[in-house]
Amino acid sequence: MANIERLQKNIEDLKAISEPCNGGVTRIGFTPEYRAGVEYIKKEMHEAGLQVYEDDIGNLYGRLQGSNSQLPSIISGSHLDSVRNAGAFDGIAGVVAALEVARMLQEKGIQLQHTYEVAAFIEEEGTQFGRVLLGSRFISGELCDEDRDRISNDSGETLRDRWRAYAGDRPVVPARRLPGSIKAFIELHDEQGPLLENTQTDIGIVDSIVAIGQMAVSVQGVAGHAGTVPMLMRQDAGAAGNLLATRLTQYVIEHYPETATLTIGKFHLEPGSANTIPGACRFTVDIRSGSAAVVDDITGYAERESRAVAKQYSVCIDAGQTSFKPAVAMNGRLKDIIKAACEELNLTYRPMNSGAGHDAMSMADICHSAMLFVPCVKGITHNPAECVPWEFMAKGTDVLYKAIQKIDRL
Ligand SMILES: [Zn+2]
Repeated sequence: MANIERLQKNIEDLKAISEPCNGGVTRIGFTPEYRAGVEYIKKEMHEAGLQVYEDDIGNLYGRLQGSNSQLPSIISGSHLDSVRNAGAFDGIAGVVAALEVARMLQEKGIQLQHTYEVAAFIEEEGTQFGRVLLGSRFISGELCDEDRDRISNDSGETLRDRWRAYAGDRPVVPARRLPGSIKAFIELHDEQGPLLENTQTDIGIVDSIVAIGQMAVSVQGVAGHAGTVPMLMRQDAGAAGNLLATRLTQYVIEHYPETATLTIGKFHLEPGSANTIPGACRFTVDIRSGSAAVVDDITGYAERESRAVAKQYSVCIDAGQTSFKPAVAMNGRLKDIIKAACEELNLTYRPMNSGAGHDAMSMADICHSAMLFVPCVKGITHNPAECVPWEFMAKGTDVLYKAIQKIDRL
């Protein structure tokens, strides 16, 4: 069984390695605080008897050599960076759990056939360079050497320069991992939503990381006096935008309450004064689902309803998709292994989708990948109040420990 005190100590120690902030954790990639976090994990890896190395983008690994050096590695881990004023578990939970699995194997004197690697990825949140999954996208090859000059932060510093200053003259290996060199990747992460807690489930087994479609809606009407233009003579962009936004939300509540989400996160009216009919309205629509067909259906509905509302309110509406990211399915065999591990441990589990992006998306490009979720209190995340009860951290780690041994025997 996982050692709760060790899990707790690692997470609390890492929580303290932060820029000064409002009660939470701020550990952004390529900063001195990030370096301090890496040095802390390195020390823990050394103490667990792992062979420690860094790659040439800033990802950190600890290796436990397998008995058969011809076999590819099994990797588990997550990210060590955070957003500003984050909680203590997002990402860190997966690194600490993977490290605890290595300690458990060592203590039991179990040598796997495959080499087991604990990974701590850099810049998953993309806070330094505005590029999410930065570390793992260099591993998969989605980002390459030229991108080091193309990517820069708000101060105009390129990734290449920033990394040089960060890494100094430490020895590093190439970040890129070739398909075939990794047998499987498993990431433990906190759910970042309320489903597991509300259904009193121990473990979530991720089916897929959702497809994300984003739209920008622009409504053009005519601004006018709030008191002098009769209701039936208006071209009120605000009223039209509100109606359309409500219809879109209602459509997803009615048709896909469990299988899709729709969020209108920005809503802007012009000119924005209390006694003026809005002449323009702009809003964003974020649509997510495990099925690309569902995202397509909602997008299609949004386009049709835009035409209907435009006619009804005598305004012009332009509604178009601005980006689309396909869903990433997790590996079926690995999901079955996690399920079997839960059953052996008498833990409850449920399949679910991940509405948030994770490093497992990049890893799925080069190897079989899977994710398990542990519950977090009230689904609160990206917030200092984020909390995974210690007993659930331990349960998740136990599942990971069993699953990794099962993968080794495959
Ligand atoms: Zn995360």
